[in-house]
Amino acid sequence: MHIDARTLDNGSLIEGDLCIIGTGAAGLSIALEWVAAGRKVILLEAGGFDPEARMQALYRGASLDRPYYPLQAARLHYFGGTTGHWAGYCSPFDPIDFVKRDWVPHSGWPITRADLDVYYARANKLLELGPYGMYNPSNWEGLDPEVKRLPLDGQIFYPKMWQFSPPTRMGTMYRDQVVKSDNVHLYTYAKVVEVVPNRDLNAIEGLRVKTIDGKEHQVRARQYVVACGSIHSARLLLASNSRAPNGVGNQNDNVGRFFQEHFEIMTAQLTFEKPPAAKMYTISTIGEIRARAEMALSGDVQTKHRILNGTASFRPGVITGTEQSRFATFSPDAVANVEARRKAAREKGKGGAAAQVAPAGPSLSYVSSTRQEQTPNPESRIVLDAEKDELGMPLANLRWKFTKLDKRSIRVFYELLGQELGRAGLGRVQVMDWLLDGNDESWPSILAAGWHHMGTLRMAENPKDGVVDANCKVHGLSNLYVAGDPVFSTSGAPNPTLTVVAVALRLSDHLKNKVLV
Ligand SMILES: Cc1cc2nc3c(=O)[nH]c(=O)nc-3n(C[C@H](O)[C@H](O)[C@H](O)COP(=O)(O)OP(=O)(O)OC[C@H]3O[C@@H](n4cnc5c(N)ncnc54)[C@H](O)[C@@H]3O)c2cc1C
Repeated sequence: MHIDARTLDNGSLIEGDLCIIGTGAAGLSIALEWVAAGRKVILLEAGGFDPEARMQALYRGASLDRPYYPLQAARLHYFGGTTGHWAGYCSPFDPIDFVKRDWVPHSGWPITRADLDVYYARANKLLELGPYGMYNPSNWEGLDPEVKRLPLDGQIFYPKMWQFSPPTRMGTMYRDQVVKSDNVHLYTYAKVVEVVPNRDLNAIEGLRVKTIDGKEHQVRARQYVVACGSIHSARLLLASNSRAPNGVGNQNDNVGRFFQEHFEIMTAQLTFEKPPAAKMYTISTIGEIRARAEMALSGDVQTKHRILNGTASFRPGVITGTEQSRFATFSPDAVANVEARRKAAREKGKGGAAAQVAPAGPSLSYVSSTRQEQTPNPESRIVLDAEKDELGMPLANLRWKFTKLDKRSIRVFYELLGQELGRAGLGRVQVMDWLLDGNDESWPSILAAGWHHMGTLRMAENPKDGVVDANCKVHGLSNLYVAGDPVFSTSGAPNPTLTVVAVALRLSDHLKNKVLV
């Protein structure tokens, strides 16, 4: 069922069993699980069914410490959320990503990769990916004799497989299922501006919701799930300070901290002795499934060298020195630009994400780029601004901070890659100047990131270390949960959406089987 909140009488009361705030990858994945589940579900979306400049302006914010994408364009504020914009690159996190590593401060999730395997398989279906088993490189090698890994020491480097979603625009793909459901009540133009706790600050009493045309409504439910992405979930909890002066769930000053992104940066020139068999590392297609590998370091080698998890992609080409950061070229109206580029690529018959990867050729020269996790860092954070948006919510600003380990890990990765390519007689690695000096902690202007926002309401067993517990419930509040990338304790190397959906499905099962039984 769909209701436009602007059409309700001012001051309406909306009541239900479960209230989900946000309809992006996380919120919609949960809502779909409750279609026909016999409970009244209230699904709140701030925007409508299409992107609107006035809604995007509510996402305005500044990057206070270093360049980043314009925040108002880095997330979408309408039904389907940022899946209206994503590129579809998917791969599961590795077992080591969930483990406490004594060389990575604040690492370790209270759940393991094994806890997510069943949900990864379900997430693959929602995102229109192939079977979960197809992340195993051996399964690809078995299907196509030309797809084979480079002959490197498998104890050190292995091919980490990615699959490519079409990319699924969840708001388009799943709109009918939601709107036709009798028990899921979708309210568009329903922006939650405050999560209101009771006077004892141990449960949520209700929500204040505003529409863009100035109406205000109330929502009451038995259980609440915040699914607004890392920046805007943290913003909402911090801004909910009428009863809890530091914000809801923020008794230990963790809300908004530990913001993490993925470093994505051109790093090295690879020169091969003879053209490598690179098909596995570009795009291969088996039936409807599209995949490719990136070079990854084994967990044992990461442990030995005390570095972060990362991967390297490579494509035929030569570093020209004229490369620019995507931060510099991604404009505030990039929402429209990116869609136009993708549409053009699709029309050429090449297909969304795959179109961005150059085909394998007989080249000897390849350009390699890093994709790496970031050290969880409490100083890397979302902070509220004194300025408010049109609905009276303080704007959210980004303080994105790095550590020495972040850069050292990239350097060590490429040292090992150079040694291994040399040992195997395949070729050599020439790292870019910005990585040469081990004492230089600066970052070059070509630095970019994946548009991945993680960690601001992190999962931790102990409330002192994080905001939610292993079931995604906010510590100290009996009926408030968080879904999506905010709960990531660490950021892994792969893009996050597959894990966002897997973690959300796990939360949905918990609510169904243990809470709203
Ligand atoms: C250009 C680009 C490319 C990307 N490519 C990839 C990729 O290849 N692979 C990958 O894994 N990831 C990619 N991502 C990241 C991906 O889009 C996110 O991981 C994913 O969308 C996160 O889902 P979410 O539900 O947590 O947040 P979102 O999708 O941002 O959804 C949040 C929802 O909450 C709503 N909302 C926010 N605040 C409120 C409020 N107060 N009240 C009511 N509703 C509210 C929003 O309108 C939205 O519907 C990309 C992102 C961008 C921008």
